[in-house]
Amino acid sequence: MTKYRKKSLIEAEQWTGSKVMADKYHIQFGAAGDMRIPTLEGDMTLDFGDYIATGVRGEHWAIEESIFKETYGEVQDGCGCCRAQTPLNRTPNSDFVITISKLDPGNPQLEISMDEDGYFADCPVNFCPKCGRKLREDNE
Ligand SMILES: [Zn+2]
Repeated sequence: MTKYRKKSLIEAEQWTGSKVMADKYHIQFGAAGDMRIPTLEGDMTLDFGDYIATGVRGEHWAIEESIFKETYGEVQDGCGCCRAQTPLNRTPNSDFVITISKLDPGNPQLEISMDEDGYFADCPVNFCPKCGRKLREDNE
């Protein structure tokens, strides 16, 4: 039998239970302390420490931490700013973090967060400010 390797790139972050993440991923909290995340295949159970993945079409799903670490390796190549969500500003000197959000891959936005609060600046980012990589596809 022929062997195949997955070649799709995903973005992921570890679920901490923060309000910012809960809002971003529309997490539902049950009365029994259970948590669920809506996915393309319906709601999925979520536990603290699970990774929430974002696929190429902007879809989300949960991956158990041990499975995530066995399956995925962090992409180190290329620009850390636009590929790894490295802050654009110097965080030791500021009390907020500016990153490029690719929650909607076709429409990257500047995300500004302070502690638990964050908002997306209504400002589409066409090119990475650090490396100049094109982040958006033209519609025409
Ligand atoms: Zn970049």
